[in-house]
Amino acid sequence: MAVLLVTNDDGVHAAGLAALAAALEELGEVHVLAPEREQSACGHALTLHRPLRVHELGERRWSVNGTPSDCVNLGVLGFLPARPVLIASGINHGSNLGDDVTYSGTVSAAMEGILLGVPSLAVSLAEGGDFTEAARVARQVAMRILVGSLPAKTLINVNVPGGPVKGIRMTRLGHRVYSGKIVEQADPRGRPHYWIGAGPPEWEALDGTDMGAVHEGYAAVTPLHLDLTHHRALAQMADWEPALNASLRARTVPPARPARKSTRRR
Ligand code: MN
Repeated sequence: MAVLLVTNDDGVHAAGLAALAAALEELGEVHVLAPEREQSACGHALTLHRPLRVHELGERRWSVNGTPSDCVNLGVLGFLPARPVLIASGINHGSNLGDDVTYSGTVSAAMEGILLGVPSLAVSLAEGGDFTEAARVARQVAMRILVGSLPAKTLINVNVPGGPVKGIRMTRLGHRVYSGKIVEQADPRGRPHYWIGAGPPEWEALDGTDMGAVHEGYAAVTPLHLDLTHHRALAQMADWEPALNASLRARTVPPARPARKSTRRR
């Protein structure tokens, strides 16, 4: 039976993970390999400077003292009885929409899957949503991936709305408007500290985006790839190469200036 790997970033005991694993059970042999603690917003981090330990929690259920991407590495590169045919990450508690996917441990697990050549999807549920409903959407997407409909080097990012699901829309990533400020506060000893990521998020035009679909009560299915090269910009910047090389060759070393003691406080 085909091996499916399920992981997440909310930790191995999260309700969304159990719902996703249960929903995929009839599509293959589900193996759960997930972080022992919550790793939300860990992005694509890997653990390279300490050993990873795997703890068996039950049949085909393991916790790892690492990140979602660590779990994917272990799962794909030999820990499981066979190479997985599909990696599913989630169901995350909270949406992973638009530009936010780059912070997401949930989506990064699917990115890692793609880098390792395994078809992958990430599933996230907006606040107040029902994991069982989200898992049903995830199973539909997983089935389409398993019949071979997924283009190469593509991962699927699924976001399910908080209320009843009106349907499923194919979308593109939306973009945030970054208008937030840092929040400065003082601790009981009068020392300042700071909060980032506060304030309500704002979004650019929603038409056709994942954010727009979820806002209107639809599940959003967004194909992503990891080619970060801006190909159009690269073509537009053709004159940079000769200009940079000309200035590199013309560069003269400036004469050494006598060292001066800095009076600036650091
Ligand atoms: Mn999370």
